[in-house]
Amino acid sequence: MPKKPAPPPLTLETAVTFLKGCGPQVAQRLAQLGIETVADLLLHLPSRYEDRRHCTTFSAWADGAEGVFRARVLHSEVRFAPRRSLRVLVEDDSGTALLRLFHFHPNQQTLLAPGRWVQGFGTGRITREGLTFVHPTFEVADSADAFVLEPHLTPVYPTTQGLAQPRLRSLVERALAVAAEDAAFQQPVPGIDGPETLAALNQLHRPTADDAIVALARFEHPAQRRLIDEELLAHQLSLRWLRRTLQQRPAPAIGALAEAQTALSAGLPFALTGAQQRVLTEIGHDLEQRRPMLRLVQGDVGAGKTLVAAVAMLAAVRAGFQAALMAPTELLAEQHARSFQTWFAPLGIEVTLLTGRLRKKERDAALAQLQAGHSGVLVGTHALFQDEVRLARLGLLVIDEQHRFGVQQRLALRDKGPEGLTPHQLIMSATPIPRTLAQTVHADLDISVIDELPPGRTPVRTVAMSNSRRSEVFARIGEVCAQGRQAYWVCTLVEVSDQLEAQAAEETAAQLREALPQLQVGLVHGRMRGEDKEAQMRAFKEGRTQLLVATTVIEVGVDVPNASIMIIENAERLGLSQLHQLRGRVGRGSVESQCVLLYQPPLSEMARARLGVMRQSNDGFVIARTDLELRGPGELLGRRQTGLVGLKIADPVRDAARVARLQPLADELLASAPTVARRLIRRWVGDFDRYGQV
Ligand code: ADP
Ligand code: MG
Repeated sequence: MPKKPAPPPLTLETAVTFLKGCGPQVAQRLAQLGIETVADLLLHLPSRYEDRRHCTTFSAWADGAEGVFRARVLHSEVRFAPRRSLRVLVEDDSGTALLRLFHFHPNQQTLLAPGRWVQGFGTGRITREGLTFVHPTFEVADSADAFVLEPHLTPVYPTTQGLAQPRLRSLVERALAVAAEDAAFQQPVPGIDGPETLAALNQLHRPTADDAIVALARFEHPAQRRLIDEELLAHQLSLRWLRRTLQQRPAPAIGALAEAQTALSAGLPFALTGAQQRVLTEIGHDLEQRRPMLRLVQGDVGAGKTLVAAVAMLAAVRAGFQAALMAPTELLAEQHARSFQTWFAPLGIEVTLLTGRLRKKERDAALAQLQAGHSGVLVGTHALFQDEVRLARLGLLVIDEQHRFGVQQRLALRDKGPEGLTPHQLIMSATPIPRTLAQTVHADLDISVIDELPPGRTPVRTVAMSNSRRSEVFARIGEVCAQGRQAYWVCTLVEVSDQLEAQAAEETAAQLREALPQLQVGLVHGRMRGEDKEAQMRAFKEGRTQLLVATTVIEVGVDVPNASIMIIENAERLGLSQLHQLRGRVGRGSVESQCVLLYQPPLSEMARARLGVMRQSNDGFVIARTDLELRGPGELLGRRQTGLVGLKIADPVRDAARVARLQPLADELLASAPTVARRLIRRWVGDFDRYGQV
């Protein structure tokens, strides 16, 4: 029989599937966590640690503390009320404790026979029945001597359903062994202090020092700081490099923005705000240059970003180019296309909509038009990125709600434009973050801010209510809908899977259907297929459903002016900017709208203060700033808000002071040590360099 070829030697770039213990199913779950290579696994750092190095006695157990116990079984029984559970009474030298298991295998009761020994780990709570552990992890043996304790802190990794911690731990062990053979991980990075990369990774995946757990929780451990610096540097490098690469290319010079502005404004029933005009001047200046504009426009929900984009697009079209706007969902693309049709039709400019929903014939016709290079306005989703879409004369690309599009995709645009020219890029973001933070996160972009809302908006009235008043809220929804208005109910859970969130939304929808049988209730969540989601959104938009139960998937840009009340569950646990973004879905019509923030009592001081901010302010920038101030150091938030979803350990908010130091270093490395720069970018930002050379 022919021998199987020897597997390739493992390197950091090897796919995880080559590691022992990683079958196709495990690989698939790892992929959900963004882990594809051995290096990805190494950089998947623990979110916290458990201390399983010592046993704690029952009498010394603090309420709510986590730890290891070692005890003898006294008694075990299965009880059926209030819920079926296995209850095991155990005893150590200091006292007794109760272990409660709700999910258990019948042979576990046999296993836990009186006289046997258990070593377990879990959170002990002092209840009416004494010290109690619900679902501790444990092992059973015939004598206490059979147990061992962990030599180092036990890492707990962010994971996904079906991928257990022990499996992740053993895979990381193997990855560490591979890294030990890789010279690159042992080289210092010029300008960054602290242990070298490999040593830092070893310390974080299996720390030993006694004081480490506190420092680690605060992100102050030297190994963390070292990797945070390295990651931030890699990001600065990649963004600066992206900017440089793009701006070395020629772009079409587009003039006469002011004329476009006049032409478009002539057809509007209102005047542009001062902020809109100021930002347009900045854009006009960029478009005249012969190098691509790379500009981010930040503006609160409803600040009128679309109109600003439309003026720039009109200028491009009048200069003889195509202008495209890319939206994160089909519904939004359709919404934009409709606004554009109203604005552009009187000017004799055609608007083409390109989404995945088009029938083949319509699509082919649209593509043929675009390819022929007819100037005009194109609106679409990421379908715009498909290879067969050739925009023969693309001069300006607008990306709406930028955080849904990656750097790679923006880079791919280099090749979409007319022969030899790179299109200008305008990126719109409704996530208002303070300027210094924006400059860090978007180091590749110039930044404009629309810091003024159009006049005459009625602010959304916001109240916070305890979840115990749920039935009052139901009644209020009934009243609002009886007046012909619509309502959103947003279900949120924190730190849990899509699946649990979907389940919560389904349960809530069922509850609401029962409480309000006269209403048509729609439901959208992240686990639904794209087309089902769109169908639900459409039904709500067209008024066929009056109440939409949703998870945070509805956060981005949907415009249903008739919706005038929004309920947000577990509001105390969401970031303020996210709450603000969600709340922006109401208050878009002429009637006064309201937002009810439901919370689970009791509220902490901090939570009370945070919800207070939401009640008092409707200004996204004020809210974002307060959110950042109220947030304690070490709190892991902000990635989603700032749009930097790719970060593994650094947090641009927590680590802001470090970034300032790294920016000059990034410039220096790009100029003097491009190979080091490239290595860091590849390590932390991934296959970024597929699109070009550093
Ligand atoms: P966003 O910045 O959230 O994308 P939009 O561009 O969707 O906001 O604008 C929200 C609404 O405000 C739209 O109906 C738009 O036509 C309107 N609008 C935009 N600019 C002005 C203005 N200067 N005065 C009055 N209404 C405006
Ligand atoms: Mg918008």
